[in-house]
Amino acid sequence: MSDPEFLLLGDALWIDFINTARGREADPPDRIPEPPAYHRWTKAQKLASDADEVPWADVLDFRTRLLTVASALAEERQPPSSAIHEINRLLARTEGHHQLTRVGGAWQLAFSPLRPATALEAIAGSAARTLADPDVLVRRCRAEPCSLFFVDRSPGLSRTWCSAEPAAHPVRVDRRRAFR
Ligand SMILES: [Zn+2]
Repeated sequence: MSDPEFLLLGDALWIDFINTARGREADPPDRIPEPPAYHRWTKAQKLASDADEVPWADVLDFRTRLLTVASALAEERQPPSSAIHEINRLLARTEGHHQLTRVGGAWQLAFSPLRPATALEAIAGSAARTLADPDVLVRRCRAEPCSLFFVDRSPGLSRTWCSAEPAAHPVRVDRRRAFR
C-alpha cells in the first residue's frame, strides 16, 4: 500500500507476490504483466532482482503454483505436492551453513547463507515459513469483490479483511456514499 504501483500488504513476501495477480476491485489488472514490472516489484520489496536471469515463464509459473497453495490453505485443503516440490527445489539452491550464536544468554541455531537470496528464492523461503508455522492462517479477504490473500497472525486468528479497515475497499466506500 505504501508503494503506488503495487499493493504490498507486508504480511508475507509470497502473499504480496501472488497478490500482484489479484486486487480489491473486480477483474484487477496484473501488476507484473512483464519482466520490467517484476523487476520493479523486487526493488519495491528490497530483493535481489532475478528478472534478467530467470525465464519469464518460470516467474509466472511459480506465481500460479503459489496461488494454488494459498487457495488450498485458505480452503483448509492440502496444497498440491507439485507446488511444494517447486518450493523445495528453490530452497535447495540456497547455499550456506548453520551456525550457533549466543543471543541474550541463550544459544541459537541460525542458517547463514553464502549469498543473498534471489527474489524467487526469497519468495520460496517466505512460503515455506508460512507453511511450517502452525500459528498463522492464510485467508482470502472477505470484502467482495476483493480477491487479495493475507496471512492472519491476529490474536484468536480472527482477521477477515486484507486491511485493518474495510473502508480500504473502494466498492464498500462507494456503497456507503450511495446510501447517504
Ligand atoms: Zn480486501
